Amino acid sequence: MAKIVEHLINGQKQSGSGDRHQDVFNPAIGEVTKQVALATKATVEEAISAAEAAFPAWRDTSPPKRAQVMFRLKNLLEQNADKIAKMVTDEHGKVLHDSMGELGRAIENVEFACGAPALLKGEHSKNVGTSVDSWSEFQPLGVTAGITPFNFPAMVPFWMWPLAVVAGNTFVLKPSERTPSAAMYMAELALEAGLPPGVLNVVNGDKEAVDTLLHDPRVEAISFVGSTPIAEYIYSTGTANGKRVQALGGAKNHAVVMPDADLDNAVSALMGAAYGSCGERCMAIPVVVTVGDEVGDAVVVKLKAELDVMKVGPGMDNNNDMGPLVTKQHFDKVKGYVDLGVAEGADLVVDGRNLVVDGYENGYFLGGCLFDNVKAGMKIYQDEIFGPVLSVVRVATQQEAMDLIDAHEYGNGTCIFTRDGESARYFTDNIKVGMVGVNIPLPVPVAYHSFGGWKRSRFGDLSIYGPDGVRFYTRRKTITQRWPSANLREGTVFSFPSS
Ligand code: NAD
Repeated sequence: MAKIVEHLINGQKQSGSGDRHQDVFNPAIGEVTKQVALATKATVEEAISAAEAAFPAWRDTSPPKRAQVMFRLKNLLEQNADKIAKMVTDEHGKVLHDSMGELGRAIENVEFACGAPALLKGEHSKNVGTSVDSWSEFQPLGVTAGITPFNFPAMVPFWMWPLAVVAGNTFVLKPSERTPSAAMYMAELALEAGLPPGVLNVVNGDKEAVDTLLHDPRVEAISFVGSTPIAEYIYSTGTANGKRVQALGGAKNHAVVMPDADLDNAVSALMGAAYGSCGERCMAIPVVVTVGDEVGDAVVVKLKAELDVMKVGPGMDNNNDMGPLVTKQHFDKVKGYVDLGVAEGADLVVDGRNLVVDGYENGYFLGGCLFDNVKAGMKIYQDEIFGPVLSVVRVATQQEAMDLIDAHEYGNGTCIFTRDGESARYFTDNIKVGMVGVNIPLPVPVAYHSFGGWKRSRFGDLSIYGPDGVRFYTRRKTITQRWPSANLREGTVFSFPSS
């Protein structure tokens, strides 16, 4: 019988109340390797109850003590890094070195959370009126929840729960049902690090689990990362139910290559950004906008040459550059987009559709695909494909490139390759995108900044993790206090108090 990934509630692994399960695949071999339990409403409610019960004592635990759990967790994550990376590769398909990179980013967020005592400091003003002092403090919300996508099984949960719990909240995590194992194992390590039972609970599941979190009045706040239609649903339903919600959605990130760019370095950077993790990154670059036809011609020739030597194969072999797509269903969808691009009239310069990896004939491998002369009206330009498909759009000027980017519905990340400071500054100042790189293809903010796109890439005011994360997981309370002298007698004042 296949191994079952269960739930973690109040510090205990358990199978939950229902009997619905979903297959979990190893995409390199195209076989079911596990099953994941799909939580019922009752199971999710049990997890929320555990989080609710754990809140009062955890809230009153001092921030340095909470942070010490994070220090120990960091060590445990580092000691078990190989094991976690293998879990990610096994279910997602990305190459081990890439899984390690993702885990490194997860650990960064734990390091940031170690600073909780400083991060949670309040603001104090003495003598705002005669003998009156005032301060703001940042209190935890209570039970908080997170819902995460398949593509960063180790990292994205860590954008959420470490900061939520060091701020004094308790948490219910609902990882992706396609890649559930890493989040579960990392939560077990948190218990080993000393996180009290009930502070972090993990429920696996699908829409039923998510809807329970969205409707239960005990859940104060929800962080979501996933596709835009679901992000919008989470945001509208969660806020309608009075919850604080941050919902990060999909993307279509453009890289602009200017005529003065260092083309060799730009193309190397673009290869990793377009095809790394098989294009299944919300900060991937699926569109290159070349400024001027000479640049367009040169970039296409160089990309084609790089694609000829890119190694595609199972992620467990660290010599590979790119692994398979996550599921057969996703493989069919991405391949369908390549067919569509041809039908729409784009030039398919490199066709990865017929790739076969020896010994892995049933894996969901698609070779890198490259389209030239893609136009803004095409579906392959407009839609998030989330696969190893790179489109080259040719324009004449930087302004034309920027207008194209600004007109796109998504605004997650973008970058410009140039040697010209003025062009770069004009770009960073004016482009309508949340995360911008200059000669950096994947400008994913480090853990002590915050991550978030603009337009339909994010719903909600605050970005995720970093300083915005601290604000998201806390509520400001402002206290104004006076200790008058026992002898002071004041008359009644009917005018509005002022300093
Ligand atoms: P998804 O939206 O299908 O799933 C995300 C989560 O939502 C999962 O936990 C899933 O169980 C749940 N879910 C799915 N359908 C639901 C429904 N109908 N009702 C309630 N819950 C539902 O996303 P995915 O395919 O797992 O991940 C890929 C997407 O995530 C891409 O669009 C990618 O751009 C996006 N993403 C965005 C970021 C970001 O930071 N902006 C980061 C990573 C991934």
